[in-house]
Amino acid sequence: MWQADAQSQVVVDLDAIRANVRTLRSNTPAEVMAVVKADGYGHGMVASARAALSGGATWLGVCTLDEAFGLRDAGLATPVLAWLWLPGQPVGRAIGCDVDLSVASLSQLAAVTAGAREAGRAARIHLKIDTGLSRSGAAAPEWPQLVEAAGKAQADGYAEVIGVWSHFACADAPGHETVDRQLAGFADALDVAKRLGVEPQLRHMANSAATLTRPDTHFDLVRPGIAVYGLSPLDDPAVRAALRPAMTARARVLLAKRVPAGQGVSYGHTYVTQRASTVALVPLGYADGVPRHASNLGPVQLNGGRYTVAGRVCMDQFVVDVGDAEVAEGDEVVLFGPGDDGEPTADDWAEAVGTINYEIVTRFGSTRVPRIYRGDAA
Ligand SMILES: *Cc1c(COP(=O)(O)O)cnc(C)c1O
Repeated sequence: MWQADAQSQVVVDLDAIRANVRTLRSNTPAEVMAVVKADGYGHGMVASARAALSGGATWLGVCTLDEAFGLRDAGLATPVLAWLWLPGQPVGRAIGCDVDLSVASLSQLAAVTAGAREAGRAARIHLKIDTGLSRSGAAAPEWPQLVEAAGKAQADGYAEVIGVWSHFACADAPGHETVDRQLAGFADALDVAKRLGVEPQLRHMANSAATLTRPDTHFDLVRPGIAVYGLSPLDDPAVRAALRPAMTARARVLLAKRVPAGQGVSYGHTYVTQRASTVALVPLGYADGVPRHASNLGPVQLNGGRYTVAGRVCMDQFVVDVGDAEVAEGDEVVLFGPGDDGEPTADDWAEAVGTINYEIVTRFGSTRVPRIYRGDAA
């Protein structure tokens, strides 16, 4: 699997992505929108999208218009929703290539109307209600006005209201009281829309956590992201077991050498050898996606043994103290993978570093580490 000249690699198992989507699909009557923003959470947007579609996803979700254009440019004709855009961006172009747009304000609606005129066809829009996340979405008091304006744009032929949607704040904490409160707010928003004559084809709310734990939030469509890539937003071991992590991050030892006892290692000498040891140099650093916070904390597997990053993670490299174990140049170091062979997982890294698995995999997305795809879905 190693190319002769590669010193580090992100391996993406597209069969895992396909299998995860199949699993999600088989647990809901709703359609599945695979969220492939942020370069497919670091896994590669287009390849991940294709694998997700082959697993039964019928929609793709992205943040930016550029991400949506990337899908269209790759020849993917699937419905796509883009939800993080600014009036002034190429909205007409998005409408022209059938990208659905989230609309959360009157100014966004005005931009969509102008874009529809430019494109010469109606924009496909999803009206977003803020039910308690206090991030995107129209606040409840502004909702009737937004719906009314959207209804008018629809009557005028500038827009087609495809969806009404919202997003959860705490779905990763099952039983959190905000989930029910947000659901109730969503029901109210749908009632208001209906009263104003706007009835969407699709109502959607559920991210991965809600998709996995709350069937009553699925409505017509679910929007899983992290679960598509095989990682769980919840601690629940049963959920983890049902998913298959798709990403493996690994490198090859660039140099191995003996150092004496009491030797400081890496910048700042925050690690000092307790005895004479072999140290191995791993050619991955914070510029490649390894969090600097993993200094003296990040777990790795090397020749079947588990070790911890020794000293600071540098921009391009870090060091592992293997004691008296045999290590040679070119040996494989696995930072994280699915865990099949006892290697650490993205969850282990997240726990070690004090973050979430999302951040661990996403960081490896846009760096110089070569990405290779594996699996029949490739
Ligand atoms: C990122 C995102 C999702 C997917 O969230 P996960 O927790 O990764 O499943 C769904 N909806 C919106 C609006 C998002 O921004």
